[in-house]
Amino acid sequence: MLVIISVKAGQKTRSQRKPGMNNGGPKYKRIILKVTGEVFAGTGNFGIDGATVKAFAQEIKEVKDLGCELALVIGGGNIFRGAVASEIGMDRASADTMGMLATVINSLALQDALEKIGVSTRVLSAIEMRQVAEPYIRRRATRHLEKGRVVIFAGGTGNPYFTTDTTASLRAMEVSAEVILKATKVDGIYDADPLKRSDANKFEELTYIEVLNRELKVMDSTAISLCMDNQLPIIVFNIMEKGNIKRVVSGESIGTLVSGGKR
Ligand code: UDP
Repeated sequence: MLVIISVKAGQKTRSQRKPGMNNGGPKYKRIILKVTGEVFAGTGNFGIDGATVKAFAQEIKEVKDLGCELALVIGGGNIFRGAVASEIGMDRASADTMGMLATVINSLALQDALEKIGVSTRVLSAIEMRQVAEPYIRRRATRHLEKGRVVIFAGGTGNPYFTTDTTASLRAMEVSAEVILKATKVDGIYDADPLKRSDANKFEELTYIEVLNRELKVMDSTAISLCMDNQLPIIVFNIMEKGNIKRVVSGESIGTLVSGGKR
């Protein structure tokens, strides 16, 4: 069984680790980067902050330049979450559809920012809307990746009652990605909310089953289970720190690794 190594909130032990084994080159060739919609809101809670999206696009470009094949799954929580709307009486399926459309809005914002700095991208939507995005077709997604285009998966899975975390797991399996990088606003998985509790402990590594048993709020259980069944590693890290995507892709041990065994 995997030993859980943890450090106190705010401790810097992780950053003292050795850099990746690949001298700055990518450790992973094909990557799914899941970005929660909140990241797009920058310091606010709602909507899209242009400067944040621009800075994020720049980081994507740098990762791309390492030679990775990069696909992104974008959330929509900065605009609309189905579960919240259903609590105030909306039909859940309709509310979730609105949530999925929110992910398309974010995806188009990111595409625009990426193309402005010369990164070739394709938005593939699970909900067909041919005037604005290609429909999601697995083989086409793979082909875009092989051609070096950044692929943005929009519209979630296309089904209500799912999340974009599950979308990331599903798409990762479909396109044979080696890892899911889950970008959040905190630097890994904690046993309590590090923003509220100074004694919260950060996990360096966890197994899928530990995440499920401890009910850690990192990804929903469907997403974790899917990764567990297919032995796909997940790295949860802080995207708000500049250069972190590149660090994690290069193999630096930042954030928390969720897998079936040791790093
Ligand atoms: N959603 C959905 N099916 C999916 C993916 C997303 O119905 O396959 C809806 C759901 O309502 C969700 C919203 O889209 O609340 C936004 O996605 P999510 O909450 O995963 O975004 P994030 O929290 O990552 O910003």
